Amino acid sequence: MQKTRLSIFGATGSVGRTALDLVAQHPDKFEFIALTANKNAEGLAELARKFLPKFVALADESFGPELAERLYGTSIRCIAGNSALKQVASMESDIVLVAIVGYAGLEPTMIALDHCNIMALANKEALVCAGHLIKSKAKDNNVTIIPVDSEHSAIFQIWKEGRSVEKITLTASGGPFRKWSAEQIASASPRQALAHPNWSMGPKISVDSASMMNKGLELIEAVHLFEFMPKQVDIVVHPQSIVHSLVSFHDGSVLAQLGMPDMKTPISYALGWPERLKNNVERLDLVRLARLDFHAPDEQRFPALRLARQAAQDLNRAPIILNAANEIAVDAFLAGQIAFGRITEIAAHMLEAFSNWVPPDALDEIVELDRRVRAFALQNLA
Ligand code: NAD
Ligand code: MG
Repeated sequence: MQKTRLSIFGATGSVGRTALDLVAQHPDKFEFIALTANKNAEGLAELARKFLPKFVALADESFGPELAERLYGTSIRCIAGNSALKQVASMESDIVLVAIVGYAGLEPTMIALDHCNIMALANKEALVCAGHLIKSKAKDNNVTIIPVDSEHSAIFQIWKEGRSVEKITLTASGGPFRKWSAEQIASASPRQALAHPNWSMGPKISVDSASMMNKGLELIEAVHLFEFMPKQVDIVVHPQSIVHSLVSFHDGSVLAQLGMPDMKTPISYALGWPERLKNNVERLDLVRLARLDFHAPDEQRFPALRLARQAAQDLNRAPIILNAANEIAVDAFLAGQIAFGRITEIAAHMLEAFSNWVPPDALDEIVELDRRVRAFALQNLA
């Protein structure tokens, strides 16, 4: 059997490593073209020695020599710097898994869409900022985009184009501050924000889950991916994270996708599609679980939901502003520079400040708007 040629961008992260654990259980099925990371030469070298890709690339050039040294004596090609990511994104693969965090995933995603058959897309920020470009390039090149985000994987598994859908419902765990007062949330510490009750994830998405900006970004992601109107996307808080999302049809029928909260399931689905890969995910035991709870989200305590819903109405401009402001604010929060409550305040301020910006169309215009918002947000951190 011919092996599937796989590249993983962001291999050292939470999604990247989960995918590699899964692939390790299917050694006959996959071979690696490229693995990438940002700065973590040690982690990337370790993964490369295990999975033997043809190429490894680091985005940060200054760690290139360390990577080369750690892989000395192997036949793995080591490259580093911004052009290195573009170079590996231009290599032909059957599947590219984009598991880079943040806006940094956008450019490699756009390039890889010219060089793969299936894109397993975990990076939601790229879709939030340039969903229309990503979708149209995928369509032109006949690339199938399989969402890896668990809610969107659920919708993708349930929904078939052309069916009469009334709405979709994205479930949200509610994060670590689900029961906290607005005052407590405003002064939460990084350690508290990083302590997600159900999912083990990278730091940025963990903070986004605490502010519920993650669900807001996912609303925009869903609007782009499935081409729904924002008002067709509902959000419901479901603390157990067992129902990953639901689709409601015109006849009153509702289909849901369920499973334990483990990213291995949506990653398996994306890497195995159209088949399903076997994995060792804990199986769902409904009797042991006994109950599933659902609540309306609280936009007063979690204003990110309101901001994202507002941004989704101005789909080709506002999400870029929201995302850039959020990335700057989350970094500053994790560095101890601002209080948790400032994250959504900064996002709201930037949405207002850039509301007259001409909506970008091409990628270079998106890059320019993103750059301007970041610069202005940095000046407004205090
Ligand atoms: P992470 O922080 O654990 O890993 C990020 C990866 O991206 C690392 O390999 C890192 O080296 C690389 N990276 C970081 N900055 C980079 C840059 N500037 N250039 C190139 N590479 C860079 O993040 P994660 O939790 O694995 O999340 C990855 C993406 O998947 C995010 O967009 C997130 O929203 C999405 N996602 C994650 C989960 C999850 O369970 N972790 C679930 C759903 C969606
Ligand atoms: Mg998700």
